[in-house]
Amino acid sequence: TTEARIESERTSSILLLAAGVAHELGNPLNSLTIHLQLIERRLKKLKAAKDKDSEALAESIRVCQGEVQRLDGIITNFLEAIRPRPPDLAETHLTEVLAEVLNFQHNELEDRGITVEAELPESLPVILADRNQLKQVFFNLIKNAMEAMEPGGALRMRTWSDDEFVFLSFGDTGSGIKQEDLVKLFQPYQTTKVGGSGLGLMIVQRILRAHGGQIGIESNPGVGTVVTVQFPRRDRRVRMLT
Ligand code: ADP
Ligand code: MG
Repeated sequence: TTEARIESERTSSILLLAAGVAHELGNPLNSLTIHLQLIERRLKKLKAAKDKDSEALAESIRVCQGEVQRLDGIITNFLEAIRPRPPDLAETHLTEVLAEVLNFQHNELEDRGITVEAELPESLPVILADRNQLKQVFFNLIKNAMEAMEPGGALRMRTWSDDEFVFLSFGDTGSGIKQEDLVKLFQPYQTTKVGGSGLGLMIVQRILRAHGGQIGIESNPGVGTVVTVQFPRRDRRVRMLT
């Protein structure tokens, strides 16, 4: 029956997801293990010789933190893909959430030699959003921008609003996307990356829809990409209800 076929398709796509996640988890976990061992060894030496080896130690700890963040991103996307949840809406300052995510990804941006420019006015209208889901949206978009760029690239964020919506754009100076690929980006497993999951934009779009928002992508191959997301203003929603 059709129902049985849909069910088996669902099962096999979940298995495919799980396999992809297990694969993606391998490299960062290896790296974590190795660096933790290095820390252990150095700590032992430090204790024995009272040596000032703190710089190398700090670097290892930084690598570990980066990998832990990577794991966190992969796992969060995986869980969101297999059990999407309705947003838990609360009054939210978009720029506050963005600042948190940037803080989280700061190390990786720096390691990749990418400069960050942010135009984030504090006077932006409040939106109704699920803080964690918003973080996931920003995390995925910044990650894509990073991965599209070479060292020396620039990530530019801009916010603005009109009567109905608050807008946030992520501009990068990366590889860009071919016109014919633009429509496919939101499909699951659509990836051009080795080890990519192809789930990021699908989840971003799903979260935006659940918030009454939208996403738009403008791209120029070889020049860069601008991804713009929009969320309904909180005061606009109130007006709609009354
Ligand atoms: P993944 O990042 O795992 O490949 P995504 O759903 O996040 O999956 O993105 C799908 C594809 O869209 C990417 O593989 C890439 O080819 C393209 N893409 C997304 N964002 C950008 C960007 N800022 N610049 C260039 N290509 C992008
Ligand atoms: Mg991605």
